[in-house]
Amino acid sequence: MSISSSESAPSRNLKIGIVGFGPFAQFLSKTMIKQGHILTATSRSDYSELCAKLGISFFKDVIAFLEAENDVILICTSIISLQQVLNSMPLQHLKRPTLFADVLSVKEHPRTELLRVVPEDSDVLCTHPMYGEESGKDGWKGLNFMFERVRIRDEAICSSFLQIFESEGCRMLEMSCEEHDKLAAKSQFLTHVIARTLVELDIQYTPIDTKRFESLVKLKEGNMNLSFDLFSGLFVKNRFAQQELQNIELAFNKVKQKLIEKMNEDQD
Ligand code: NAP
Repeated sequence: MSISSSESAPSRNLKIGIVGFGPFAQFLSKTMIKQGHILTATSRSDYSELCAKLGISFFKDVIAFLEAENDVILICTSIISLQQVLNSMPLQHLKRPTLFADVLSVKEHPRTELLRVVPEDSDVLCTHPMYGEESGKDGWKGLNFMFERVRIRDEAICSSFLQIFESEGCRMLEMSCEEHDKLAAKSQFLTHVIARTLVELDIQYTPIDTKRFESLVKLKEGNMNLSFDLFSGLFVKNRFAQQELQNIELAFNKVKQKLIEKMNEDQD
């Protein structure tokens, strides 16, 4: 892993075509527009009205979207639908080499899928902004942004894209997609499992809350707006998360075992 900076590279305004205009794409697009980039979008659902309000050209027709000569095609679909979405895109309609970037919360899977479908003359950049609407609501300064330059020939476009995040103050972390998935299973996936468990328990504030309990309720509430597609994708498409779920179960059983042993000791 390395903490990187490309501040010296000149940055330019990009034409960015977003695939999948759900909550996270909408959140990212506001900053991209503020920075002066030109956005287009396509999605399974019709976002024409919302896009018109934001100044984004929305394409219902994916061929017209691909022919629109974007510098970057930014994949923002759910993890679970990625393969289906990529398979449905007739990439032979691209007019010129394009940078394909993604923001999925797992990384080995989009890396493999993008290398499978992206034309040989186009570049591939895998990224994961490690924040969302809640943690990034007051700006992106100091928030982690992971990326791997999977196949980059056009350095100018790639560094202009990375500058979107760097110029907002993100902590730029260059690492392999494999390394990301290993670390994310032990951190982000664990956080989501705990948060989902707290949702199932339906924990609520009480009149006698400790600070630590308040932070658990906040963790639960921070999860309420995230889709089940996102959560399940973190598990299904990250081979390291499957081991982590077993570790969590083992750890819970150990804690339970220790309590029961103590109770039995006291009763002897
Ligand atoms: P999400 O539920 O993970 O993804 C929603 C997007 O996926 C929408 O654009 C939706 O299209 C599309 N989609 C879902 N099923 C589809 C299908 N069968 N066919 C075509 N499109 C489909 O929610 P999200 O929070 O917006 O996340 C988007 C991506 O960003 C995910 O890969 C996620 O891992 C990543 N990410 C999210 C966050 C975050 O805080 N939310 C942070 C970092 C990275 P329609 O809206 O058109 O139906």
